[in-house]
Order: sequence, then C-alpha cells, then structure tokens
Amino acid sequence: MPISHAEPITLTCPACGASHTAEIWQIVAPDERPDLVEQIRNGALHTVTCPQCDQTHTLDAPLLIFRPTAAPPILFSPAQQTTSEQDQQHAAALIRHPAPAPGRGVERRLARAGTGNRAAPDVASGFGR
Ligand SMILES: [Zn+2]
Repeated sequence: MPISHAEPITLTCPACGASHTAEIWQIVAPDERPDLVEQIRNGALHTVTCPQCDQTHTLDAPLLIFRPTAAPPILFSPAQQTTSEQDQQHAAALIRHPAPAPGRGVERRLARAGTGNRAAPDVASGFGR
C-alpha cells in the first residue's frame, strides 16, 4: 500500500471565484515518488491551476514527508498561516493517517520543504478537516 497520499479538496479560485477541486498531497514518501520530491523542491507541490481562468495559486497546506530509512523518518512542514496548536493537530492527523511510523516525534520545519506557501492567499481556509 502506498504511503504517499493526496487529499481531494474543494477550492475557491482567488482570481475568478470559481470552485474547483484539486488533489493536494499531504503525505509524500520520497522513495515512492521522487517526482513529488522534485515538485517540493520547486515549490510546486501545492500549486494548483484554476480550470476556469488558468490562474495558478499556491495553497497554504501542511505536508508530511515520510522516509522510512532516514533519520528522522518524519519531516513535517506546517502550513504558514496557522498557530502552532493547529500545526500539531495537522501533524497528528497526518501521522495517524496510514500511520507508518508513529511515536518518533515530528521535526518541525526541518524539511524546509518549500511548499511555496509564502504567497498563499486564503484559498485553503477550511482545509485540514
Ligand atoms: Zn479562476
């Protein structure tokens, strides 16, 4: 069973207001998906394109990276516009998900995963439930 996991979420385009859905990667296992790692490096992993107006925008979404053979095995890149409490909830929820390796602790920010959240507008509000 793959570890990597994308969650379909409904977004509202900040440019034209159209609702659309996008698959947002929440858990990435580099061993499985080197292509996604490339997107993380480029800051493109959480970038979505509006099917209506073709604008791209970047989501403010947390990301968990799971590397079974590395130390630490779990890296967590929290969303930007969240409190540390929310970050912990996001991390706990993601770790519980298919839960490959619980209990090793989460290295906050270590990944510097560059999900490109800096420019994120509020398109992701409501995300994380
Ligand atoms: Zn749009």
